[in-house]
Amino acid sequence: MGLDAGLLVTMTTHISPARMHELPGLYELAGELGMHEFSIWESVAKRSGDPVISEQDRQVILDMHRTRNQPGPGPRVFTSSFFEGEMLGCMAGRRWAHVCVDGGVKACPYMPFEFGNVLDENGLSGAWKIIRSLKDFKERRNLCMMQDPQFLINLDHIPEGSSSKYTYRNILK
Ligand code: SF4
Repeated sequence: MGLDAGLLVTMTTHISPARMHELPGLYELAGELGMHEFSIWESVAKRSGDPVISEQDRQVILDMHRTRNQPGPGPRVFTSSFFEGEMLGCMAGRRWAHVCVDGGVKACPYMPFEFGNVLDENGLSGAWKIIRSLKDFKERRNLCMMQDPQFLINLDHIPEGSSSKYTYRNILK
């Protein structure tokens, strides 16, 4: 429908280590469907110890980014590996925040804890100030925080079955 409406359309996948071999086929499919762009996001961990993309996998994705973005047929390629790697680094709490449907504010949609709520007295700016005050969100990081074993230790403090309203301050206590 997007193509019929004349929009720029991207086909997106989150790639896990076990499914790396499917990338070329997915790119071909995007081409067959007439997509303008094929977008690859690295999968992230939900708990420390979950499998994440290796540096070798990342180089495969970056090679695809380089070769498929040369002039020629086929969709262009967007990769978080480049965008949130050497280009800008991790954006969480540095360049963006995520507002959930219930107003909860996260530094990144993949992080299972909130820093405030747009409906609270302090609103979005209050949540942003909290994020920006925390050491974890100050320095540039080229490695996704949700793949960083040191950061993922924080997730182990979240009780089993806890809702996404679990706050980062709980973890710091
Ligand atoms: S933690 Fe950073 S790099 Fe990882 S998905 Fe979130 S914004 Fe992207």
